[in-house]
Amino acid sequence: MTYTANDQRYAAMQYRRTGRSGLKLPALSLGLWHNFGEVDTLANCRDIIYTAFDHGITHIDLANNYGPPPGAAEETFGRIFASGLQPYRDELIISTKAGWPMWPGPYGDLGSKKYLVASLDQSLKRMGLDYVDIFYHHRPDPDTPLYETMSALDGIVRQGKALYVGISSYGPAEAAEAFKILRSLGTPCLIHQPKYSMLDRWIEDGLLDVLEQDGVGCITFSSLAQGLLTNKYLNGIPADSRAARPLGNGAIEADAITDANIEKVRRLNTLAEQRGQSLAQMSLAWVLKDPRITSVVIGASKASQVLDSIKCLNNPNFAAQELEAIEAILKG
Ligand code: NDP
Repeated sequence: MTYTANDQRYAAMQYRRTGRSGLKLPALSLGLWHNFGEVDTLANCRDIIYTAFDHGITHIDLANNYGPPPGAAEETFGRIFASGLQPYRDELIISTKAGWPMWPGPYGDLGSKKYLVASLDQSLKRMGLDYVDIFYHHRPDPDTPLYETMSALDGIVRQGKALYVGISSYGPAEAAEAFKILRSLGTPCLIHQPKYSMLDRWIEDGLLDVLEQDGVGCITFSSLAQGLLTNKYLNGIPADSRAARPLGNGAIEADAITDANIEKVRRLNTLAEQRGQSLAQMSLAWVLKDPRITSVVIGASKASQVLDSIKCLNNPNFAAQELEAIEAILKG
């Protein structure tokens, strides 16, 4: 069946400027790290992506290694793009990344120009795209000179294979150095993608200040702590949850769902109910309350989760007492 996008798709989503660039991103973006691999059902993948776009989520975040197996999420996206989204290419911001292990040998990992250029060429083929909107270096590489990695990103933009570039999971000092090099090359860094949630607040310790100073946007990942910051684990581990899947690959493990964590989540859930929202919605609103955050990349295993999460925009503000109550709960 042909896909026609909802004509009300721009009615409710909020778009935020990415740092001091010309690009706006939706407050919520959709990430394809999990649930878009070979083990997943194409119809469900399609439902999640179409539901997101139908509600104004114009940004889809990928990486070379998303699957399983690595590359499969880009292939899944490529199928959905070819069969439905292609007419909307100019309404979409598609990103991909390279930096984690992708193929055997010394050229399929980390930050060399050899790896980044070859990897993006492979990603474009898998997705059936001429260019991506954002290409990221996925993680810092302590051994490759930063200048080489940044000039590879600059070269990729000059070749027209990406419109903008970003970095992910760099600490404040290495991010500042990367921004300086990219500026000197004439390709300012658009965006940084770090992990950030109520349970992981490392970016408050310097990184957000650097981003603000350099006019670079911030798009956070795992802001629901892979599902822990929702109500799904309050009564055990559901069979269809990420924690129950035999994946490894950095995914949430059943043993991360400790009694101490669940006690905090239970108290946060009560607070969310008092605010008239789900815990997923409160967790996302909490991240988005900082104007330096451009967007949150959410993961989803069902379209209904996308619809639930989007409603965080209906109640974005926190009273001082609510913020204090959250701090008290997080301190345990
Ligand atoms: P989240 O913290 O958003 O967790 C997503 C999971 O939470 C879903 O799969 C689902 O779990 C559960 N969930 C989502 N919405 C709801 C809801 N409304 N109610 C109940 N449960 C819900 O993020 P991810 O860790 O998946 O990361 C999101 C994206 O960030 C990735 O897809 C990727 O694009 C990016 N990312 C980037 C990284 C980087 O290094 N740059 C690293 C990791 C992620 P379930 O599957 O159990 O139903």
